[in-house]
Amino acid sequence: MPAQLLDGNALARQIRGELAVEVVDFIENNGAVPALAAVLVGEDAASQVYVRNKQRDCEEVGIHSRLHQLPATTTQEELLTLIARLNRDDEIHGILVQLPLPPQIDSRAILEAVSPNKDVDAFHPENVGLVVQGRPRFLPCTPAAVQQLLIRNDIPIAGQHVVVVGRSDIVGKPLAIMLAQRGPGGDATVTLCHSRTPDLGAITRLADILVVAVGRPKFLTADMIRPGATVVDVGINRVGKALVGDVDFAPASQVAGPITPVPGGVGPLTRVMLLVNTLAAARQLET
Ligand code: NDP
Repeated sequence: MPAQLLDGNALARQIRGELAVEVVDFIENNGAVPALAAVLVGEDAASQVYVRNKQRDCEEVGIHSRLHQLPATTTQEELLTLIARLNRDDEIHGILVQLPLPPQIDSRAILEAVSPNKDVDAFHPENVGLVVQGRPRFLPCTPAAVQQLLIRNDIPIAGQHVVVVGRSDIVGKPLAIMLAQRGPGGDATVTLCHSRTPDLGAITRLADILVVAVGRPKFLTADMIRPGATVVDVGINRVGKALVGDVDFAPASQVAGPITPVPGGVGPLTRVMLLVNTLAAARQLET
């Protein structure tokens, strides 16, 4: 049976439409425009594209965006000074520091310098802690994208066995915590796998929902999927000119139930979650 495609582009469009209405409402009620400051250090081509796309997304829903572009030679102190200024700037509600940063800069120190109230990537330890405790200020964007993809496609999460492959701080680990959390969008039984997990296929075949965030093209093969299971592919790998996920899509889609494509699955929704968090930051700071 051919799989049901979980269309991230369509859902991202729908959520952007909802956000545009909410932003108009916010501006009418508060007289302030939600605003994101994007900080880009250096000339990395991919980072420039990412930031440009994020700014375009902002414009589409009526969020103001401001770009701070700094040279690759920027020192840690200079960047910390800019972050401190943005933290104090009443017109800015969200701060995004595009990674990676040049080697002379300690990324962790920079991310920790962003005010937790404006930390729309949810990387600050205070925000990570709040997510772990089940009372998030902001949800991290990629895990939130996966969760929304499931919820809005009416895929049950509560009581299901979710297997997450990959335990990074930005994807696998927070996602596992969020889906195991008590309450709506959670209540799953979660198994978190990684490179030291023996016989990975034996575990992935137990999954009702299988999320793969490994960073290796076509890593998850069809024989690792229980027939009918939901498969969410977080991976984005450049192979030649093509973007390829972590799931071997064509054969996997013959076995899986609902499945995300790459591109057009989790990626576009991740971008939308940054907008969701920027509006949430504006609401928290202005009301
Ligand atoms: P990381 O490299 O930080 O983490 C990869 C994880 O995969 C690690 O936990 C690692 O285990 C695990 N892993 C590696 N090899 C194996 C293996 N053979 N078996 C089981 N587990 C393995 O990656 P990220 O989480 O940052 O990203 C993962 C993918 O998602 C990438 O392709 C990235 O581009 C993509 N991505 C997509 C986003 C989107 O918006 N769609 C956003 C963020 C990332 P260990 O910890 O033991 O090393």
